[in-house]
Amino acid sequence: MGIMEEAKRGVTGEEIKKVAKDEGVSAEVVRRRVAEGKVVIPFNPVHSPEALGIGKGLRVKVNANIGTSLEYINVEEEVEKARVAVEAGAHAVMDLSTGGDLDEIRKKLLKVVKVPFGTVPVYQSAYEAIKKHGAIVDMNEDDIFNSFERQAKQGVDFAVAHVGITKQSVERLKKQKRLIPMVSRGGSIHMAWILHNEKENPLYKNFDYLLEIAKEYDLTLSLGDGMRSGAIYDSNDRAKFQELLIIGELVEKAREKGVQSMVEGPGHMPLSHIESNIKIMKSITKEAPYFVLGPLVTDIAPGYDHFVGGIGGAIAGYYGADFLCYVTPAEHLCLPSVEDVREGVIATRIAAHSANLARGIDLNIDKEFSEARRRLNWEKMFSMCIDPEKAREFRKKRKPVEEKRACSMCGKFCAIEIVEKYLGD
Ligand code: SF4
Repeated sequence: MGIMEEAKRGVTGEEIKKVAKDEGVSAEVVRRRVAEGKVVIPFNPVHSPEALGIGKGLRVKVNANIGTSLEYINVEEEVEKARVAVEAGAHAVMDLSTGGDLDEIRKKLLKVVKVPFGTVPVYQSAYEAIKKHGAIVDMNEDDIFNSFERQAKQGVDFAVAHVGITKQSVERLKKQKRLIPMVSRGGSIHMAWILHNEKENPLYKNFDYLLEIAKEYDLTLSLGDGMRSGAIYDSNDRAKFQELLIIGELVEKAREKGVQSMVEGPGHMPLSHIESNIKIMKSITKEAPYFVLGPLVTDIAPGYDHFVGGIGGAIAGYYGADFLCYVTPAEHLCLPSVEDVREGVIATRIAAHSANLARGIDLNIDKEFSEARRRLNWEKMFSMCIDPEKAREFRKKRKPVEEKRACSMCGKFCAIEIVEKYLGD
């Protein structure tokens, strides 16, 4: 029996207890929220990752995407990216590989990654359709479901399903006349398939079958945001909300069947749209966990999109987003390197922690850190900061000439030392 089904029957399993302990929340509260679909714990027993809670009342979490592309396949580098992402503090890793032996890559990654592991199974269906039939749009309905089943059997903990890309939402998109009609890879695959075959999205039409697969393997579904805006100009538009309305209905179905589900969100979005987007999403889905990419609060900073996503992520987390998908400095430009992955995770962790503080969580961490700063206790600061490696590097780079305790920013004019000397403790 899956975690949600158990929770619905009043059972508080080990995973729920672990989440409750980590979050400092009572196990009964976590159990109730899992049962209601307001918290998910992506946990496929085949993989058995560290139990991680995502959703209402819990800390904001960070996801890192890695994976090959058709243009660049270096499996060992992807394994290293996964390792570095977790070391830098990512709470979950998603493999978005679209090049090479996908089953083998996933197998290797699943061995290394001990946190929840996610995928987008339709990538595999599309990749194999090109090899088998010569075109993505020629994949058949079974190809799509088979990828979900194969990956769940292998141990994947959560999988993206672009169930909101339907004939209806595609029609809405056509009328919308967006600046950039669609930027989601999975979304575009489904849209192309629907238009080419003049048929409904199989994941939507046979959602019950998808739920059966998910239930069998306790696979958490991440209901994908195919209509996420790829330009500030297109943010919070009718196409986006059309998709969200469909997803809202499917979240309810998943809950009825005891399948854990979360909902994905934008995308490019001005700061002023973030609060309303989250409130509407939470209202339509009756507080499903919200997994957002970024949001990216400007279009014009390629090379710095980890900052752009960090700004959006902090605000989104404050207003109720539960899970932030990182953005790396390479976003919109190329497949990220290992260092880009590290930078992306750190930037998103800063966003998540900032949101947690604003929600009144983990204030003691910053308090303790500031006490160390007041004492100029560098070792303590390094041991507590989000990126100790970088902080140490900076301190070493320009040591103070005479002062032992201050840094080279002010040296003899160190305000902290002057105040300590004359004001005392
Ligand atoms: S020298 Fe200036 S920047 Fe450095 S610790 Fe002292 S007050 Fe802070």
